[in-house]
Amino acid sequence: MSADLVVVGAGGAGLAAALAAAESGCGNIVVLEKMAAPGGNTALGGGLFAVESPLHEAQGIATSRDDAYASATQWARWKNDPRIVRAYVDKSGDTVRWLSEKGLDFRLHVLYPEQSPPVWHMTSGVELIKALRRDCERAGIRLLTHTSATRLLTNDEGLVTGVVAVSRGTPLTITGTCTVLATGGFGGSPALLKRFVPRYKESVAYVGRARNVGEGLTMAEEVGAAVDDEVALLFEGPSTPISSKHWLVTDPPRDVPGVVGAIFRSLANLAKLRSVVWLNKAGRRFTSESAYPIDMACGNQILRQPDGICFAVFDDKIRESIENRGLVGSIGANMGTVRVPELRKQLEGFQRMGAARIADSWEGIAEWIGADASVLSGEIDEYNAACDRGYDPVLLKDKRYLLPLRTPPFYSIRCHTLLMDTLGGIRIDEKMRVLDRRGRPIPGLFAAGVCAGGLQGDSYNYDLPGSAQGFAVNSGRIAGENASGYVADVRAKESRLRE
Ligand SMILES: Cc1cc2nc3c(=O)[nH]c(=O)nc-3n(C[C@H](O)[C@H](O)[C@H](O)COP(=O)(O)OP(=O)(O)OC[C@H]3O[C@@H](n4cnc5c(N)ncnc54)[C@H](O)[C@@H]3O)c2cc1C
Repeated sequence: MSADLVVVGAGGAGLAAALAAAESGCGNIVVLEKMAAPGGNTALGGGLFAVESPLHEAQGIATSRDDAYASATQWARWKNDPRIVRAYVDKSGDTVRWLSEKGLDFRLHVLYPEQSPPVWHMTSGVELIKALRRDCERAGIRLLTHTSATRLLTNDEGLVTGVVAVSRGTPLTITGTCTVLATGGFGGSPALLKRFVPRYKESVAYVGRARNVGEGLTMAEEVGAAVDDEVALLFEGPSTPISSKHWLVTDPPRDVPGVVGAIFRSLANLAKLRSVVWLNKAGRRFTSESAYPIDMACGNQILRQPDGICFAVFDDKIRESIENRGLVGSIGANMGTVRVPELRKQLEGFQRMGAARIADSWEGIAEWIGADASVLSGEIDEYNAACDRGYDPVLLKDKRYLLPLRTPPFYSIRCHTLLMDTLGGIRIDEKMRVLDRRGRPIPGLFAAGVCAGGLQGDSYNYDLPGSAQGFAVNSGRIAGENASGYVADVRAKESRLRE
């Protein structure tokens, strides 16, 4: 098989790249997808970052590309690539227009109550993939599912000339003038996580597609691509792996009363409720439960704790208030009031599963955690005293969330750092061309989406939420447009040679 452009991976980045290339005049495009259907982690996501978007304009909300650029570079302490940041930020508003024209609806959202202006353009990841796929089909782009790329082809001059793949068990070679790698992150590969994320621990609960294992990154390295020293992690935590609101339990416990999805969603939110207290295995608090941004504060902090786990503890008064009034102002897309009926029964179900403990004394909780009872009780006494004073002198927890824990029974839920995706790996430039170890573009090779680095440095910027899916679609578009230009240049050169 031969093609002008071969795109590896049919998530947000790959489909956007293929479509943008077709819209820019590239003719013969093939997209390879190892799974049965396109989507990748993009299909699980909720929304994209954008500034100066049509929604902002329609709603009279002032946002600025320069402000976003400043936020991205400062957040990353200049460990990212400012030119890539610029290209991403500048494209973002137009990408919302591009997707809106494909029929997608957006609404503006913030990740935290404190965040302003709203830059997270919420949509459905599934609908996003459907719209891109439909337009790819209309543009005549071929999508080969069940087709896993295994190796890049190169010629004597170092040009990338195609891809070797396995399609439904049969080897397949596709010669291509140009290739875009868009294989997503490597959350499914503990080996790569250990290599690129020194703070990684096995306790991390990855909730993305298990078969996103970084094959694009490996293939790029094999042809001489430069790679990042460290990549950013997209955390959402603390959370109970069995209670992810994104619902990944294949065998849900039927004995827990209530609607299973709602239980898991509410327990995941409960673990992030700011009025609970987080303890490590030694029975000590380790970070403010109201720290900003909470996902990063607890994601990184839990990884510093023994065995990389923590325990969210609270008392019966908090339990009762959640049952009666719900979780008000919980975090992320579920902001608002989340109803948690029969929480006590739900917690009993979790206790039977070994994921929670209910005890009449802090000694009982300490025993389950494996902590010294006097250390844990001392920590709670110190916390309760801070609540009485309305000031937490140790960890500076926001006084709005300082509620003493004195009413038994006491509850404890085991929590892990929840990982949604890895962000970075292959070194690219602002045209999404893959760079070699001397910083030169490898001819015929582009990369887009979270398999490529440059936007984030070593930490995801929670002040610009939606920047994983956002980077996927924006970098995909940029890669596709430039890949199309590359193919046109090659064709023009060939025709000059023929003349
Ligand atoms: C539950 C969840 C919620 C999220 N919510 C958000 C959100 O609201 N906002 C946000 O910005 N981000 C969010 N993210 C992260 C974001 O969705 C992803 O990081 C981003 O969309 C990745 O896009 P991508 O195209 O680079 O990779 P993916 O969408 O993962 O696509 C990669 C594709 O490549 C395929 N592939 C891999 N290897 C090969 C191979 N060798 N051959 C062929 N195909 C291959 C994979 O099967 C996959 O389909 C979320 C992630 C998760 C898990």
